[in-house]
Amino acid sequence: RHYNFCAGPAALPTAVLERASREILDYQGRGLSVMEMSHRSSEFIAIAERAEADLRALLAIPANYRVLFLQGGASLQFAMLPLNLLGKGGSANFIQTGIWGKKALTEARHLGFECVVAASSEANGHIEVPPQSTLTPSADAAYLHYTSNETIGGLAFDYVPKVDAPLVCDMSSDILSKPIDVSDYGVIYAGAQKNIGPAGLTLVIVREDLLDQAVTPSPTLFNYRQLAEAGSMVNTPPTYAWYLAGLVFQWLQEEVGGLEAMREINQRKAQKLYAAIDSSDFYSNPIAVRSRSLMNVPFVLADEALDAAFLREADAAGLLNLKGHRSVGGMRASLYNAVPEAAVDALIDFMADFEQRKG
Ligand code: PLP
Repeated sequence: RHYNFCAGPAALPTAVLERASREILDYQGRGLSVMEMSHRSSEFIAIAERAEADLRALLAIPANYRVLFLQGGASLQFAMLPLNLLGKGGSANFIQTGIWGKKALTEARHLGFECVVAASSEANGHIEVPPQSTLTPSADAAYLHYTSNETIGGLAFDYVPKVDAPLVCDMSSDILSKPIDVSDYGVIYAGAQKNIGPAGLTLVIVREDLLDQAVTPSPTLFNYRQLAEAGSMVNTPPTYAWYLAGLVFQWLQEEVGGLEAMREINQRKAQKLYAAIDSSDFYSNPIAVRSRSLMNVPFVLADEALDAAFLREADAAGLLNLKGHRSVGGMRASLYNAVPEAAVDALIDFMADFEQRKG
């Protein structure tokens, strides 16, 4: 297998894919694939419950939080959040640090909800997260939304905002990369396709007291309370993605050794790559050091005309998907949990060699 630096859908742990491939035709002697099971069967219910229990253990999720395994991606949550949290009035507040946070705000506005920008890094081109002291949530804030890691810009929060309103966090691209304190949040959500599993599954972790603030009437499939009461099975859930996510949770616990161990590995990977970029005049990354993402490392070459050769040669060397997002160009190396340290070492060696030949 080649080294895959894709921002999402991203690399999955090889051990997880090997296990899934061993079980794909005949799950534990049942003579059928997980893909072919009823979601109401005892076998699948056991898979689903184990996945939730393992996730709860990994993140130390308190008992007063519900875990939902949904569809529609993180993008559907941009709409579901105001629909579920603004039924009793108030406004949605946002910290804007990049493209994904802006989409969340735009969607809430599009639905007609009152939206307030409580802080923004737009004026500095999203190169540094606004400090806590600059947050100005409105008095009627029903919640404050932020994006802990902006996947495209490579900008990450180095603190958890402290405000009176419930915190809502889009953790699509850094969930499970390090320990967090779930009790700091009202809602945490994430599309699965980076650190959780394959695309098609969306995780929502919601505090119980926030389950009953939905706009009425609301579609059943958009309603946190109804989804929670139905065990995320109002309709057919993405069963295979749920099963694979469960295997990823087991891998994190049993093979990596939990989220503290994962954090150390992720820090080491990112620090190496930033050090290589900073020590060269040929590569650069614009983000303020305190706001640099451990998961997505964007960088540009001094001479844009070399971009195509860089990508072509990297691909030929087995270093895949280094092209930056179409909206920003340049390069981006995503270093999610499943990207091994050896991949980062190989990338750094390739970058040094390319610079020596072309710089
Ligand atoms: N939020 C963040 C931080 C993301 O990185 C992405 C996708 O890359 C999304 C939201 C949108 O996720 P989805 O494609 O699951 O809707």
